[in-house]
Amino acid sequence: MILNAAVPNEFNALRVITLATDATCASRLSGALSAMGITPLANVESLSAVQAWLDESQVDVIVCEIRLGSDAGLMLPSLLKGRYDAGTLMQLPSIFWTGETTLNARAQAVDGACVPPRQASTNQFWIRHIGGVAVSALESHARLARTAGILVEILRDGTPLELGDALRAVMLTRAEADPQLNVATFDALAEDEVINALTTGEGLRFVFQPQFELLSRRVVGAEALVRWKHPQFGEIPPSVLMPLVNRLGLDLLLFSLVEMWTIRVMLALKRERIWIPIAVNASAKTICTPHFADSMAARMRQADLPTRLLKIELTEDVPEPDELLLSASLTAIRTKGFQVSLDDFGTGAATLNLLANLSFDEMKIDGSFVRAVEQHASSRKVIAGIVNWAGLLNLNLVAEGIEDESTIPLLHRLGCRVGQGYALARPMEIDAFLGFVIEQGKPQ
Ligand code: C2E
Ligand code: MG
Ligand code: MG
Repeated sequence: MILNAAVPNEFNALRVITLATDATCASRLSGALSAMGITPLANVESLSAVQAWLDESQVDVIVCEIRLGSDAGLMLPSLLKGRYDAGTLMQLPSIFWTGETTLNARAQAVDGACVPPRQASTNQFWIRHIGGVAVSALESHARLARTAGILVEILRDGTPLELGDALRAVMLTRAEADPQLNVATFDALAEDEVINALTTGEGLRFVFQPQFELLSRRVVGAEALVRWKHPQFGEIPPSVLMPLVNRLGLDLLLFSLVEMWTIRVMLALKRERIWIPIAVNASAKTICTPHFADSMAARMRQADLPTRLLKIELTEDVPEPDELLLSASLTAIRTKGFQVSLDDFGTGAATLNLLANLSFDEMKIDGSFVRAVEQHASSRKVIAGIVNWAGLLNLNLVAEGIEDESTIPLLHRLGCRVGQGYALARPMEIDAFLGFVIEQGKPQ
């Protein structure tokens, strides 16, 4: 059970307003916030009222309702950007979009292929619309807003846990900009806890998400992902944990832990004669650690595992300014036989540059394109373009974030052969992952 409500003071330094066009929705938003210990500065109904509040006081978060027929929530990012660029707003508030959700029906098996079992009944549904607006459209809009420097969170399920996570992410960004907020925040609380978790392993787990060949539904790989259960706040998502880990300089330590558990998983699979590569995420800074490739190779040798089974996914969260050093490090890793993948292709500021100048074995198409593939012709074109690039550069391709069964044949038609996502399998605890892969590997 997540105990957000047990820490009512965690977020009370945040200055929040709600934007909703009707009183019932406004009181629902206020209720959710007060359960988090936040009393909104105001509940407003229009963009002009938001402007008036921005003139009056500093605002950290605007929680707004998305509703068909009202474009206020969608217009917010451009309003904020305009005022920020004009110098009338010193700090960009974060935006949370929420609204009534519409689910699609249970997904069907495609191409007569066997569909892996899903884990929870809620996974059988996929949120198609929020407040009447297609999730894919919201995601594209949010992506543009983020590129413009505005943190936009789409609250899909409206749970306290989701709201708490989003508020924590804001606390983290604000704490860096505003030292006053740093006092008694989750951030300040968490630093000691993160150090403790990484040094003792307490509360840390590693889950594995399979990757599938889309046509045959064979498991052809996996990605290792960290999970951290805070003793007081419950499950902390990587989006909150990773910035802390990076800031504390603990990225290499985390990498070693994920690598150690990944090697254990590989050894368990080896006993079953299953040889699938497993990817571990690493920032450019981690990869550029002196002797990184040598140390990994030594550990794989010790475990008597071939290096080709370990894949490094380059994330863009801590870029390495020295491109020559990054290039040398990636080359060293590949020379030892490890595979290197470029994560979240299409979202980062520098991905094209990275792709043009560095050498990879694989690129992963970011889930935001994949999720929009059915509704947005532009996403289909982007994916088709990425497939072409991958072909030209001789790279393998993984489509990430496949949430809907019905997108799978379409992705396949566009040229994606391998995919990962909730529609195929969620990240799993180690025992469940091993059971799943071993079961899949048995002759039918
Ligand atoms: P990523 O490397 O792109 O990992 C994929 C993320 O997408 C994971 O989120 C995974 O749970 C999520 N995901 C998988 N399928 C779906 C889907 O169908 N729909 C949606 N909406 N999401 C899906 P997670 O575990 O929260 O990780 C977020 C990011 O945090 C990762 O993005 C990665 O950049 C970073 N991260 C996670 N674990 C580690 C780690 O051990 N080390 C490092 N350095 N970074 C990590
Ligand atoms: Mg990754
Ligand atoms: Mg990714």
